[in-house]
Amino acid sequence: MSFPSWLSQLYRGLSRPIRRTTQPIWGSLYRSLVQSSQRRNPEFSSFAVRTNTCGELRSSHLGQEVTLCGWIQYRRQNTFLVLRDFHGLVQVVIPQDESAASVRKILCEAPVESVVQVSGTVISRPAGQENPKMPTGEIEIKVKTAELLNACKKLPFEIKDFMKKTEGLRLQYRYLDLRSFQMQYNLRLRSQMVMKMREYLCNLHGFVDIETPTLFKRTPGGAKEFLVPSREPGKFYSLPQSPQQFKQLLMVGGLDRYFQVARCYRDEGSRPDRQPEFTQIDIEMSFVDQTGIQSLIEGLLQYSWPNDKDPVVVPFPTVTFTEALATYGTDKPDTRFGMKIIDISDVFRNTEIGFLQDALSKPHGTVKAICIPEGAEILPVFLNANRNWNSPVASFIMESQRLELIRLMDTQEEDVVLLTAGEHNKACSLLGKLRLECADLLETRGMVLRDPTLFSFLWVVDFPLFLPKEENPRELESAHHPFTAPHPSDIHLLYTEPKKARSQHYDLVLNGNEIGGGSIRIHNAELQRYILATLLKEDVKMLSHLLQALDYGAPPHGGIALGLDRLICLVTGSPSIRDVIAFPKSFRGHDLMSNAPDSIPSEELKPYHIRVSWPTDSKAERAH
Ligand code: ASP
Repeated sequence: MSFPSWLSQLYRGLSRPIRRTTQPIWGSLYRSLVQSSQRRNPEFSSFAVRTNTCGELRSSHLGQEVTLCGWIQYRRQNTFLVLRDFHGLVQVVIPQDESAASVRKILCEAPVESVVQVSGTVISRPAGQENPKMPTGEIEIKVKTAELLNACKKLPFEIKDFMKKTEGLRLQYRYLDLRSFQMQYNLRLRSQMVMKMREYLCNLHGFVDIETPTLFKRTPGGAKEFLVPSREPGKFYSLPQSPQQFKQLLMVGGLDRYFQVARCYRDEGSRPDRQPEFTQIDIEMSFVDQTGIQSLIEGLLQYSWPNDKDPVVVPFPTVTFTEALATYGTDKPDTRFGMKIIDISDVFRNTEIGFLQDALSKPHGTVKAICIPEGAEILPVFLNANRNWNSPVASFIMESQRLELIRLMDTQEEDVVLLTAGEHNKACSLLGKLRLECADLLETRGMVLRDPTLFSFLWVVDFPLFLPKEENPRELESAHHPFTAPHPSDIHLLYTEPKKARSQHYDLVLNGNEIGGGSIRIHNAELQRYILATLLKEDVKMLSHLLQALDYGAPPHGGIALGLDRLICLVTGSPSIRDVIAFPKSFRGHDLMSNAPDSIPSEELKPYHIRVSWPTDSKAERAH
């Protein structure tokens, strides 16, 4: 997409007519809200000294006197200068006559990426010199006056070479990196989508945008939280990992449709799809069930989806957690391609192959397989469709078993079947990982398995309410969080076999990434207390405020949170969520531009009653 056309596509969505689906409560407030959101193309030059943006000028502007402000993209033979702003590029003719010597001096001497203001007339380019690749390619600016607003020193990298820079360098000079087309596109698209989400939630469906505190207290279970010291000795705030408790308390408070573009914090280190502070579109509503939340989110994504992408098709398909694990080996399946896991235990019931026999004789023992299309290209063949099976076990497989396997797996010449035997969940998750790795390998060989323009949404439902704790599998932890309601038909299991109880927790998956999750909540204090104290062995005192609130007429409620950074990352096809965040942290959680976190003189720590206990191997750091 060319630089300026994306912008108009981005903003075209604004003029879409608003469908009114809710009755206004306060008529005039509602009307003014709707009117303000029905504004046509934004005025990009209002209140500024410029009359136009660089990228908007066309033949229709011929003869107009304009003032433009922008950065010098490049200069050609001291004759032309290309000026850039967020909207695009425009060619400026550097005057050659003596009378304009001062203007020429400014425009010829200012280094690239200096910021200048020029005033002049829009003229057509001489015949034959039009540039059809440039949206402003039919015109140029005949300059009358020019002013150097600020000169640019030698840059640490070229703005154009977005992809060639290392991430460290990009983060160190983030303000320069932000000038790149890709970062401009990502951040403006993000803003547009959020704006449409607000419009959908507030104006069409009566949600209320409410800010909740970021100085809070520790929440039991869940992710590691950042601590904030207070002036009271030994007392700390925690930065919330999500506004979960507040959004539920808002329901008790009768604010029955809440949303927030919420900043959340988890002290878990960065990964390509994670960083310590991130943003959620956080939603909660009263008197709703799971299908209600699902429809709300489908509508929200459909409404806010960028116009330059294929429209979102709703409703999204749904699979249960159990089906997802059995078919894709994960609770966040990438459904853009097949290679599903198939249970082939029955083929081998009477096998003589020792490890298969052994696996099948154990509880939940299975034999599972996936078929890799044209896998012979990427893998040393294990079992393939032709007769020369290249596998140590091949000679033990009977002809009837071989035929049944080929039928079940729908195996073609050159395909490869990967087979594993063992406990159901383990076998599935192993094949699930291999499935993704093989897909990557096939794609590096040129096979198109996952269409880059395809957005494959999927609901995963009926999760278990509890999972065995990793560090002590005899204890339970919540699969989602402790406020999630059990599946109505499994409540009795809480008192007999809690491990078997399913929950009303749902996840939204996009192209194999979890982009949202939520649940219907427990609104009964007694049940909540039982789950916290008896099943999860948590200290209920820490949540006494919530338990008390549930006792004062808490309505049934449920909600969800969408991971905004991850969603925008997928929509823009960016390799990392840091490409859709203006000022992200590095992989190690540092701000490479300002060097946060930073040390504090011990004097300044005194009011917090804190002393640093230095690890013995960090003398060098202390010296800094
Ligand atoms: N607070 C939850 C989370 O951050 C989402 C929810 O249950 O609404 O995952």
